Amino acid sequence: MSAPQVIIVGAGPAGVRAAEVLVDAGLRPVLIDEAERCGGQIYRQPPEARRRPYEKLYGSEAAAARALHQSFDRIRPGLDYRPKTLAWDIAGGWVSIHDRTEAAVGRLPYSHLILATGATDRPLPVKGWTLPGVFTLGAAQISLKAQDCLVGKRVCFVGTGPLLYLAAVQYARAGAKVVAVVDSGSFAAQVKYSPGLRHAMGTALRGIGFVAELHARRIPVLKGALPVEISGTEGVERVTVRQGAKQKTFACDAVALGYGLRSETQLADLAGIPRSFNAAQQNWAPQSGLDGRTPVAGVYVAGDGAGIQGAHAAELRGTRAALALLEDLGKPVDAGRAKVLEGEICRWARFRAAMDGMFPIPVEALKSLADDVVICRCERITMADIRRVATLAKPEDVNRLKAFGRTGMGRCQGRYCGDTAQAILSSLTGIPQEQAGIHRAQAPIKPVPIGDFIRVASQTEAIAEEAAQ
Ligand SMILES: Cc1cc2nc3c(=O)[nH]c(=O)nc-3n(C[C@H](O)[C@H](O)[C@H](O)COP(=O)(O)OP(=O)(O)OC[C@H]3O[C@@H](n4cnc5c(N)ncnc54)[C@H](O)[C@@H]3O)c2cc1C
Repeated sequence: MSAPQVIIVGAGPAGVRAAEVLVDAGLRPVLIDEAERCGGQIYRQPPEARRRPYEKLYGSEAAAARALHQSFDRIRPGLDYRPKTLAWDIAGGWVSIHDRTEAAVGRLPYSHLILATGATDRPLPVKGWTLPGVFTLGAAQISLKAQDCLVGKRVCFVGTGPLLYLAAVQYARAGAKVVAVVDSGSFAAQVKYSPGLRHAMGTALRGIGFVAELHARRIPVLKGALPVEISGTEGVERVTVRQGAKQKTFACDAVALGYGLRSETQLADLAGIPRSFNAAQQNWAPQSGLDGRTPVAGVYVAGDGAGIQGAHAAELRGTRAALALLEDLGKPVDAGRAKVLEGEICRWARFRAAMDGMFPIPVEALKSLADDVVICRCERITMADIRRVATLAKPEDVNRLKAFGRTGMGRCQGRYCGDTAQAILSSLTGIPQEQAGIHRAQAPIKPVPIGDFIRVASQTEAIAEEAAQ
């Protein structure tokens, strides 16, 4: 039997833990990641020139970050590690890649594939969200983590979810003036779902600590509040928000906007894995079991790319998926360990369900957006365009909406507007969200320079010609 060819996409907590299990079992997986260094989103490492102490970079997560990076360093010799490499297509047992170091495209065969592609944050559209100075929450955090750089001096944090509070605290500690934290989640919902926090008390207490720190710093925290408009002449100057019947305006030079996370599922879709809609998370995730197995034999999913559960669960899910892969290869696996992992994954799922209840995504607010609000930024499709297409063409799902109205047809392939378009279409037409669907993935899932295709093609041609002579 030929040696298995295992590819892991994603070197975040899930991908690194999966790789660790496989290397320890004597395999040599290929580990692909777009980023320059391992760690994924949460344990992202700055470039060498901008190294800082772990405690400064990762705060309460310093120990977990160090542990993950050290595990990676230990297994590094056993890996075929491909940093700065995008996986942009999956078809017929091959992963197509773009290697940014070599500026080259190519493809790698696999017999087994683990997709640990993580998540992106979700900025819901609001009037003025395309002004310079509006960032997603994640982008604001990445700029701090990776470049030690603030997105503004007076920043307003708008959205919902634990990352909203964490990022606001990180900015306050880094010296920014946090003018307000505007959370759409209501105090009542947070009290109602708080019993579920017992499933991960340490993490819950850290979150409560962030809120307490914001109060201690006298930063206004508004709950049950939604942004009405972000405005300014050449960039952000103020944010107006509504809380019940009251309206407030905060002067600021930047806005960090984010309503929870959504799974990166384009590769899973290309690999043929059906996706299901989780209404509480407003998220489409590839279908999979607790063990990471999917309906497609030999393809596994792990971490936030398989449904949002957070970084600790991502490590467990990466480990479990790799054990499933070993089982499928007929290698000995400690069944007790697999069971314990599944129990822990369930515990984190219960914790996540509480968080989903505490911080619901306010998609119902989308239907009253003004006509001139841009929904699809790549193609500059506005709310009025979507209203017009929904009325005239009566699309039955987002893929038809895309065909008739171009929403999601641009560079991001609907990665950013897809779920918003789905929620808007559903609210305008009454089609259930699940039926309104999600954009089918198209390769390349992210832009790849055409020059790199041409250069590789001409090199291949030259080699073929030489061989023929
Ligand atoms: C912007 C952002 C900031 C966050 N900050 C925090 C935080 O401060 N604290 C916290 O507790 N949680 C945070 N989270 C959530 C946390 O990052 C996740 O729960 C956790 O990282 C999930 O781990 P993962 O391994 O599943 O995915 P990730 O850590 O997201 O890792 C996925 C990796 O896959 C790579 N990848 C994806 N697609 C491709 C592709 N096509 N080709 C090549 N590589 C690819 C990415 O570059 C990435 O390194 C954040 C999430 C986001 C999106």
